[in-house]
Amino acid sequence: MIEFKNPFKRKGNWYKGNLHLHTTNSDGTYTPEEICIVYKNEGYNFIAITDHGRVTSVKKNFPSFLVIKGAELGKGDFHVVAVGLKKEFIVEKLSCQEIIDEINRRKAYPIIAHPYWSGLTSSDLLKLKNYIGIEVYNNTCEKIKGKGYSSVHWDELLQKGKKILGFASDDTHHRPDKYREDDALGSFIMVKATSLSERSILNSIKNGYFYSSTGPIIENIEVSKNKIYIKTSPVKHIDFISYAGKGSRFSGKRKLLREIEYKIKGDEEYIRIEITDKSGKKAWTNPVYKTC
Ligand SMILES: [Zn+2]
Ligand SMILES: [Zn+2]
Repeated sequence: MIEFKNPFKRKGNWYKGNLHLHTTNSDGTYTPEEICIVYKNEGYNFIAITDHGRVTSVKKNFPSFLVIKGAELGKGDFHVVAVGLKKEFIVEKLSCQEIIDEINRRKAYPIIAHPYWSGLTSSDLLKLKNYIGIEVYNNTCEKIKGKGYSSVHWDELLQKGKKILGFASDDTHHRPDKYREDDALGSFIMVKATSLSERSILNSIKNGYFYSSTGPIIENIEVSKNKIYIKTSPVKHIDFISYAGKGSRFSGKRKLLREIEYKIKGDEEYIRIEITDKSGKKAWTNPVYKTC
């Protein structure tokens, strides 16, 4: 049996968003209103503002632009983004698991932020439960420390049977300088949802009807019991990443690739697709699971 929440088969429209951003209410440099304008002007349809330890309200309404409440909570370098959190809570006396549990109790969605930057190992993450996913890419961690990619963490967790989603997030602080690129507008998720309402967007996100990207676009995915087909913007590599040494890379040797079909061998357990364009930018699908 193949299990995959295919956003291309879901009714609705595509919405571009980012789920991890800071403002002047914590250590960001854009005000809440400015950050909405910056993202709206670049074609994003929604953002979640996730200041450290507090929920930010935006005073103004922006037409056709959704602002989801949230916060980034944590202990030391363990950070978790609580998307949809309406009110902050005190975390000092709580363990990492209790923070995740409280986010769930408040009907918000916990995403483990930047595992690589945090120095978390997949064994640390395996001890935790009830989070919907991890940041497979965090733009500010890449721009500041060169530690933005947590795809190995994701694969190790998937290999141990955790069914979790992968998110690309900016974690915008907007503090470029002479040797540092800006961390705003470097990644996004594309969500298929029935409308641009908080309820519809969050429902699609928690169910996995989205893909993540730092640039490339996915145009279609078709999954059947013995093959996976993907169509994309022009890319250099299309990787079908799976358990241990299984899966396969397809590379455009003379010209860039636009589509490929992968034959499922039957022993993969999970397969996720990662594509890379000629400038190194990537996009990630959520995993296809083989359940028996
Ligand atoms: Zn953080
Ligand atoms: Zn952050």
